[in-house]
Amino acid sequence: MGYYTLAAEAGFSAAHRLPDVDQCDRLHGHNWRIRLTVQIDETDLNQAGMGIDFRQIEAVAEEAVADFDHSYLNDLEPFRDTAPTAERLAKVIYERAALGLASITPAASLVEVEAWEMSNYRVTYRPV
Ligand SMILES: [Zn+2]
Repeated sequence: MGYYTLAAEAGFSAAHRLPDVDQCDRLHGHNWRIRLTVQIDETDLNQAGMGIDFRQIEAVAEEAVADFDHSYLNDLEPFRDTAPTAERLAKVIYERAALGLASITPAASLVEVEAWEMSNYRVTYRPV
């Protein structure tokens, strides 16, 4: 018996500052890219032979970062007390997206969230 993983991506543009981290301490921005990877058992495919529609994963991803787009991340609630590093961003997105996904289908579970700060810098959050 196997399972499938499906993934969809979304993006947003945002500014941040990472206090006391070299030049990251200066105000700057990134065009972030995120990818949600979802797992579904092969026994849970629907009548159409699909685990979950890619567009639904994409919508969950877009919803999870909607308030980040064109924002100054340090000012947002999740990052009031902690610097908005790529690591923390990925975890916040994971928590939001897991809730969003659960509301669509209990058969799909969120495996991981990847977040690209730049095309060559990526962080992955995966719960234990
Ligand atoms: Zn940065």
